Amino acid sequence: GATIGILGGGQLGRMLSVAASRLGFKTCIFEPGSDCPASHVANYHFKADYNDTDALTKFANACDVITFEFENIPTEALDVIEALAPIHPNRDALATSQDRFLEKNFLTRIGLQTAPYAAVDNAEMLEQAIDQIGTPAILKTRRLGYDGKGQSRLMSPDDAPQALSDMAGQQAVLEGFIDFSVEVSVIGTRSADGAISCFDPGENVHRDGILHTTTVPAKLTPSQRTDAVLLTANILNALDYVGTMGVELFVTSHGLIVNEIAPRVHNSGHWTQAGCAVDQFEQHIRAIAGWPLGDGSRHSNVVMENLIGNDVNRLPDIAKTNTAIHLYGKADAKPGRKMGHINTVTGPAS
Ligand code: ATP
Ligand code: MG
Ligand code: MG
Repeated sequence: GATIGILGGGQLGRMLSVAASRLGFKTCIFEPGSDCPASHVANYHFKADYNDTDALTKFANACDVITFEFENIPTEALDVIEALAPIHPNRDALATSQDRFLEKNFLTRIGLQTAPYAAVDNAEMLEQAIDQIGTPAILKTRRLGYDGKGQSRLMSPDDAPQALSDMAGQQAVLEGFIDFSVEVSVIGTRSADGAISCFDPGENVHRDGILHTTTVPAKLTPSQRTDAVLLTANILNALDYVGTMGVELFVTSHGLIVNEIAPRVHNSGHWTQAGCAVDQFEQHIRAIAGWPLGDGSRHSNVVMENLIGNDVNRLPDIAKTNTAIHLYGKADAKPGRKMGHINTVTGPAS
């Protein structure tokens, strides 16, 4: 059978490998770390750094199609691979979503709403940005942030020096603070022939900057639900995207505001494993393999809960009979570390 290459070896790579293997593919991961979640289930593991051209070349030659499970891969690594094997999603989609400023420019260009924003490289630009956007606001590094890391809140302009020093010299973007009622996300997949299937929006609750639960159905009006799905399709089409993407949205009285997009399967889409005949991981593998998409309609109500750090030790208490357990095989339960998740089916779809 064909071999699917995955850049990155975390839990998303692990669950993609499981899905690929169920569809009869072999999987090959490229990941610098040795004992990583995906290495326990993939068929092959290229253990090398992302700047190792020789290893990247061997990896690409061993794979029929290549994808990635995190967005912080140096685009130079894709340049090496691109000449040797097809990559989905494409390099531009990756480059756009690696940089919060470019991402917001893109979203604005295709007519979607974002938080008011401005690029900040230095103290003078921060001062101008605060004049323009006001406070409260959030300063975020343009690149490499996740789980709320690399962010600093400004309650007043007086917080500017502290916020700037929190950026530790990295380029940043200032965002106006959005007064949202709820956060939702849409997980959408686009196939090679341009067909799109979106899962129902899920409602997200964060704790300490990390996703805590996703609940379906989300509390949305029918028109908000339609809007959320259609704008996700707009993003997928505009990027000529092949694969699964996560789109995080703020729900406000002035409509839906796009917080950020992730060019990969998404933590807030893990509920699909228990709520749909075909989950986000299988949709992604189908898309990048050039297969038709499956039926992603929701048959059940689900609450997905992340097991962070020591949460994993409460498992015997929280796992009910209607709970499906997913553990990532990580050795030590450090605080803030995603160790697994549980999907609790709360009833038939309503
Ligand atoms: P992820 O782990 O989802 O990639 P991240 O580190 O990229 O997270 P964001 O999604 O930008 O961070 O922000 C984390 C959370 O902080 C959001 O889910 C939201 O709850 C809150 N937040 C971020 N930006 C804003 C904003 N402009 N206004 C209000 N709340 C915000
Ligand atoms: Mg993010
Ligand atoms: Mg986010």
